Amino acid sequence: MFLVYTEVRDGKIKKSSLEALSEARRRAQERDEEVHGVLLGHNVEELASQLYSYGASQVYVLENSLLQGYSSSGYAQALHSLVEEVNPEVIFFSATAMGQDLAPRLAAKLGVGLASDCTQISIKDGAMEVVRPIFAGKALATVHFKSSPQMATLRPNVFPAESSDNAQGETVKKEVVVSEEQVKGQVEEVLKGKGTEIDVSEAEIVVSGGRGMKATENFDVLRELTQILPHSALGASRAAVDAGWIDHQHQVGQTGKTISPVLYMAFGISGAIQHLAGMSSSKYIIAVNKDPEAPIFKVADFGVVGDLFELIPPLKEELKKQLSE
Ligand SMILES: Cc1cc2nc3c(=O)[nH]c(=O)nc-3n(C[C@H](O)[C@H](O)[C@H](O)COP(=O)(O)OP(=O)(O)OC[C@H]3O[C@@H](n4cnc5c(N)ncnc54)[C@H](O)[C@@H]3O)c2cc1C
Repeated sequence: MFLVYTEVRDGKIKKSSLEALSEARRRAQERDEEVHGVLLGHNVEELASQLYSYGASQVYVLENSLLQGYSSSGYAQALHSLVEEVNPEVIFFSATAMGQDLAPRLAAKLGVGLASDCTQISIKDGAMEVVRPIFAGKALATVHFKSSPQMATLRPNVFPAESSDNAQGETVKKEVVVSEEQVKGQVEEVLKGKGTEIDVSEAEIVVSGGRGMKATENFDVLRELTQILPHSALGASRAAVDAGWIDHQHQVGQTGKTISPVLYMAFGISGAIQHLAGMSSSKYIIAVNKDPEAPIFKVADFGVVGDLFELIPPLKEELKKQLSE
């Protein structure tokens, strides 16, 4: 059985968890196995039926008022008890901030290996094989598992989420035995960024700016582009973040977020290896840079050698025109 941890944020299931669930269904079908989902927290039961259409034939609901806010130790403890009881062969998490925190804790408790941030999963001769970028995306490692359950975190926006109509499943409530002592630290409040901005790791289009943007107020120009483009978010290089022009939550790269949007637009970003580590798996990359030798052009599908400040205003007008038609 494939077990998929499904993450809830603001009362909604995260899209990346639905992607992990869909991938579990595709791979489980090849091994003629079932997929079960897990919902963990407080008042999450009503979300269970959504998981049926993405492939879960059973959804375990683990509720406890002590788990209302995310707690690394408390959630890992609750999941550990469930895994010991239901004995899955494979466990998937999405490689979100929470997934990357929780999956290694669970793996350590179980004493098994974990393949993190996977971008490909296949079944070869009945065994699971995963591919994960290493050395800041310079190489790809193919991983085979020797321990069981086989655990992997899946990079968001890489695996398509596929739902089907009239899917049915069963919700199984499990008692969660967690003591106050086991909930060692807990998220009390999540402070949101400006307005209704989408998280950079979840957006289909990312409009990103680097040192070439030159000032805080110029990021407002990029923000305007995200308001025109559907499902888009604002990204940034570390140089822009370090300059204090934009918050760290927007940083893309080795010490920021790893993202795979359909379209990545880089304005005034040179394309340092640490930046490429976070965005080179984007489906399409457009780069605007006044330096024709900028390394970003090596990974770009479309490149414009020019001044971004001259290019953005007509681009904005054209996008407005095209998207309103
Ligand atoms: C351990 C470590 C971790 C790191 N992690 C990250 C990370 O997570 N993310 C990250 O981004 N970096 C990271 N870095 C930093 C990285 O090495 C680079 O310093 C950084 O990415 C550079 O940012 P940049 O491209 O915005 O700036 P620059 O390299 O200075 O490039 C600015 C670009 O803007 C262009 N430009 C300037 N003006 C204009 C204009 N008017 N029109 C068009 N183009 C213009 C220039 O030609 C230039 O190519 C890390 C470094 C280390 C050592």
